[in-house]
Amino acid sequence: MTAELIAQSNPTLAAEADRCVACGLCLPYCPTYRKTQSEADSPRGRIQLIKAVSEGKLLASPRFAQHIDLCLSCRACESACPNGVRYGALADSARAMIAGKPGWKQRAANWLLEHRRALALAGRIARFGQITGLRRAATALLPRLKASAELLPIVPAQEIWRTCYPAHNAKGEVALFLGCVTSVADTDTLRAAIHVLNHLGYTVRVPLDQACCGGIARQSGDAEASARMLERNVNAFAKLGDMPMLTVASGCGSGLRDHMGKQVTDISAFLSAANWGDVVPDALSGTIHVHDSCTLRNAMRQHSEVYSLLKRIPQADVCALPGNGQCCGGAGTYMLTQPEMAQRLRDDKISACAESGARLLATSNIGCALYIAAGLRENGMNVEIAHPVVILAKQLGWKP
Ligand code: SF4
Ligand code: SF4
Repeated sequence: MTAELIAQSNPTLAAEADRCVACGLCLPYCPTYRKTQSEADSPRGRIQLIKAVSEGKLLASPRFAQHIDLCLSCRACESACPNGVRYGALADSARAMIAGKPGWKQRAANWLLEHRRALALAGRIARFGQITGLRRAATALLPRLKASAELLPIVPAQEIWRTCYPAHNAKGEVALFLGCVTSVADTDTLRAAIHVLNHLGYTVRVPLDQACCGGIARQSGDAEASARMLERNVNAFAKLGDMPMLTVASGCGSGLRDHMGKQVTDISAFLSAANWGDVVPDALSGTIHVHDSCTLRNAMRQHSEVYSLLKRIPQADVCALPGNGQCCGGAGTYMLTQPEMAQRLRDDKISACAESGARLLATSNIGCALYIAAGLRENGMNVEIAHPVVILAKQLGWKP
């Protein structure tokens, strides 16, 4: 990013920013404002900056970029805003404005995310590196890889997904979105989802020409690549006809739902509303703490369904992790690009786990799970983190 970034006039962006009446009601909900107490790191301050740049009154300077980059895109401000200002869309456009033309590294990463088979191959290479110790050698040679390598759990053997997982006496069909990181690093969650859906009588369809949801590209400001991935998914799922499209990672679900509408739904919301007939999970005595991911809470607005779903497990005591309204700091690639603020936010989650005595933590987003798990490991804490559907599948006889 250079200091010579030129301000551009963008009337659509300015019009959306203009809807903010600067009431400040969103400020107490903004994690970065709470930490810095700086107006420029608040939603209201950022909106004013975006407005000034989009009207050509202010240069899109590195200082401007710094305030936009520090935003987590958690959209807590959007949930709190009485005027319905679409802050998420504003931040995406501001990022695209700052980023300019993507460099070759970003284009290569986006290409990988767009092509599922190539991504699975990368997963196999990562697993080989982890098993043989090559990863340690690589991070010693390239220390910049260390942060991202430390977040990854042992990558599982890559699954060869089938196009259809039929249920006996099927009462309906659903389509499953695999996701990029989930399909490589969290295949257990996808298998657990298929198990529960089949158990309840739903045949699961998996279009194999689907791509990443486009969220990572959008966050990095590459709106073109993000739109290309979204379009690829629209076409892949349209071939299946009219059926619910389920996501297991709310980070993917939020962007897809924004673009494709309510056909896209989080797996917990779908299962919570499904007809369970006489199916009752095995009992689980103990407490399940739930970490609400921002994307499920503020973008998809389906977080309360996680609680109702888990409460189907007899004897389970389901409760919210204290401080759930605040982002964990993971926020897509934020944990890598803004490590200092990310860690301050994660420290709050680690304290909440310690103070509440959490032993089993449910979360619906792979990014949050990986980032919080790394923090718990660093602090020597023994807390199991699992997707709600994994917890449920185990109580329905599924073995990881
Ligand atoms: S974004 Fe909404 S809540 Fe925040 S200052 Fe503007 S109008 Fe008020
Ligand atoms: S998206 Fe989150 S971090 Fe960004 S301004 Fe809104 S509340 Fe603050």
